[in-house]
Formats: sequence, C-alpha cells, structure tokens
Amino acid sequence: MNKNHQLRNIPRIDRLVTLLEQDHTVAGLPRTLLADAAREAVSRVRAALKSGEAVDVSPDALAAASKQKLRQMSLPSLRRVINATGVVLHTNLGRAPLSKRAQAEVAQVTAGYSTLEYQTATGERGDRHDHVARRINSLTGAEDVLVVNNNAAAVLLVLSGLAQDKEVLVSRGQLVEVGGSFRIPDVMKQSGAKLIEVGATNKTRLSDYREALGPNTGAILKVHTSNYRIIGFTEQPDDRELVALAKEHNIPVIDDLGSGTLLPLSFGGWNEPAVSERIAAGMDVVTFSGDKLLGGAQAGIIVGKKQYINTLKRHPLLRAVRIDKLTLAALEGTLLDYQTGNPLTDVPALHFLHKSAEILGQQAEQLHALLKVLRPLGWYTKVVALMSQAGGGAFPGADLPSWGVRLTVEGKSPQLIDEQLRKGEIPVICRVQGDAVLFDVRCLSVEDMECIRRICLVLAGGGAG
Ligand SMILES: *Cc1c(COP(=O)(O)O)cnc(C)c1O
Repeated sequence: MNKNHQLRNIPRIDRLVTLLEQDHTVAGLPRTLLADAAREAVSRVRAALKSGEAVDVSPDALAAASKQKLRQMSLPSLRRVINATGVVLHTNLGRAPLSKRAQAEVAQVTAGYSTLEYQTATGERGDRHDHVARRINSLTGAEDVLVVNNNAAAVLLVLSGLAQDKEVLVSRGQLVEVGGSFRIPDVMKQSGAKLIEVGATNKTRLSDYREALGPNTGAILKVHTSNYRIIGFTEQPDDRELVALAKEHNIPVIDDLGSGTLLPLSFGGWNEPAVSERIAAGMDVVTFSGDKLLGGAQAGIIVGKKQYINTLKRHPLLRAVRIDKLTLAALEGTLLDYQTGNPLTDVPALHFLHKSAEILGQQAEQLHALLKVLRPLGWYTKVVALMSQAGGGAFPGADLPSWGVRLTVEGKSPQLIDEQLRKGEIPVICRVQGDAVLFDVRCLSVEDMECIRRICLVLAGGGAG
C-alpha cells in the first residue's frame, strides 16, 4: 500500500472514540479524554508515515495506540522515582525523602480537619507555628522560632523585616549563588536592604566590618558557602568578635546556614555547622532549610532572639510565605524522629549519608546478584567502587566513598539504556560514565533494588519477572 493511500485510510477520530467506548477497560472515561488520546495516536501515526516508516493504520491498531496513550495520561506527572545517582539531597529529585513518622503525620493531619490554628485546651484560636516551635527551640537552644515556605523565603523575610532601607554588610567571600537562581545580592535587592560588600574574596577581617559600619547599617549577614569552598590563604573573623561588634552598634548578626543540621555532622573530614552551635556562638538570627541536612519537608526555619523573631511575626510578608499544613505535619514528624527516635536511622537522608562502606558493599553485591539473571540476554553487571555526594548545598567537595553496579548491554549504548530506565513507569535515575550505566546503591532500599531487577528484566525482553 502506498503512503498516500495509507494516509487517506487513517480512521476518523470519532470512529476511534466509538471503538474506545466499546472497550470496557476505558469506556468510563470522558469523551474529551478519549478524543485527546485518539488524536495523539493519529498524529503519531501520520508523522511516522510521512517519515517513511511502515505502520499499521487499521482502526484496531490505532485504538490500541490510543489506549496506550490513555494509560500514560492517567499517570500523575509528579511521581516517585528510584534515585540511583548516589546524590542524597538531589534537588531535582525532591531533596530529602520523608521519614515514616513524617509520612504518617501528613496522612493523619490531611485526611480530615486538624488543630492547625486551634487550641483544644481553651477552644480558642491557636498559632500554626506553635506545633513545631517548642521542639525546634529544644533542638537548637534558640529563644524563638518562625517557620516559612523555604529558606529563600526565610532570608527574604529576615532581611525585609530587620534591614529594609538599611545597609547590610556581607563578606565578599560569601556572595553565594545557590542553584535555582537564589543569589544573595538579588535577594538583598528584593528585600529593600542595601548590600555593602566588605573584605576580599579570600580574606575578610573584623576591621573590614568595623570600617564599613555606619549610622545606616541595619545588620551583618553571614552566608554559609554551601556549594563551594574558599581554601588556601583565607580568613574570616572570629564569630564571637563579630557578634560583639554588632552588639556595640545594636544591630543583629544574621546567619544564613543554608543546610544547617540539628546534629553535628562530619564526612570526609568536612563539617557542616549545627544550628545549636551557631546559636551558642551568639548569632541573633539563623535561617536554614527543612529539606536539606535536616532531612524533612521543604521549609525555611528561622530561629533566634525573641526581639527579632517578634518583629518578623508582625511583618506583612510573613503571610505571603506562610507554611502550609502538609509541611507542618511532615516537619513535626521529622522533629519527633530527632526527639524521640533515632534520627540516624529513621530520617532517610541521614541514614543514607551514614551507610557504612561494608553495608554499601553488601548492597552492591545484592544488586549485582539480582541482575545476574540478565546475563544470557547480553546484560552484564559488575560491582564497582563509586563516590556519592551529599548534594543540597551540603559538604561541597566531600566525596563519600560508596559502592554500586556498573551495567553494559550488548548492542545498546549506555545513553539508550539510561533513557529507557528513566522513561519507564517508575523512572530509575542513574549515571552514565564512559560505555556503562552506573547504579550507586547509597539511596536504594531493598525494595528499590528488586524494582530495578523487574524493570531491567522487562527492558531486556525477559518477561515481567
Ligand atoms: C539552599 C540555600 C538557600 C535556599 O534554601 P531553600 O530551602 O532551597 O530555599 C539559601 N541560602 C543558602 C546558603 C543555601 O545553601
């Protein structure tokens, strides 16, 4: 049959819709959705024909293609993936996975009504921040707490509330850009504060701050260099001296920690500052993320002295960056892991970061063993040593020794395998290196590895396993 003849023979959309309506597996779906799927299937076939491919244009074949489309269209776009990249706090993959406790709190609170802003003791209106404030106080030693949408919002609120129309001193070594276009100079502009750069990129002394201080200085801002390090000939003033200098001028020191941890953490010889250490060092206001090293839901946490937090509580911007009940429920669940559980095993991000080389090695052996059945189909695996990363603006430059599996497939490029793995119903996200695909086992559960086996088996044409 020639191409034009075939093009003319493509069934009409309403004919396909009628066919689909007779199919009990999709018959209940709205007509508009059936028509959308049929239209997509037809346009795919048209394009294939025009590019000279041999395709079946029979009504049955197009109805089957439409049903395939309908299945894809009924899957949510935001869905789970398996993270085999070895990057624990992977911003594109949703940063921190929630703990069991956090998931349970979300389910418990969101299925019905809740005490979000209600005090059961008095029957009066409550404050949504109170659910987590006391817990965060006790975990950080701070006087008071405010929680907002994310840390970017926290920094914006703090600068707007405490330093609008005033000058804010920042060391030239700390003019950070975080992924997703969060840049300190831009946030500063947005807040209405005026950035005054002090010192040099590698060295900033106390005297640099002192010389820049004037009658219009509103705050000193310290920014944690989350995603880079300045090494070599470097200097930053002692925190206590900086705090004392700010006190002399009656202005706060604001500390944007980025990740900020509730526990002191150290990997590969690097430390990330714990929030409690910063509070103990005298910082007036400290901001950090809920979904970086803390390992919870996306949130921006502001802790510090009562006088400053009270000012922020009255700021109109607070309403615009308000935290929602899903986040609060999740955050309280994670905080409970810290207070009453064992965070190093219960909070997934901390658990993944702390997996020992021995455990990682065993897991890699397990994954390798699971994938061995694919060998006769030309899928070859090998256990290899890898380097994982913390990600999420934490521990830059610190490689975490890990283990994983290296996969090569006869007759398939690693790019093709990578594509097929990420396009499945449960996408598996891995790394391509040289002629192979790499699975880092650091962020994988036993169930994830079993899932990878099933997915690979289907891709290799070995059945549903
Ligand atoms: C990550 C980070 C932010 C932004 O935090 P989000 O929670 O992603 O909004 C701000 N400042 C620093 C130093 C960071 O590392």
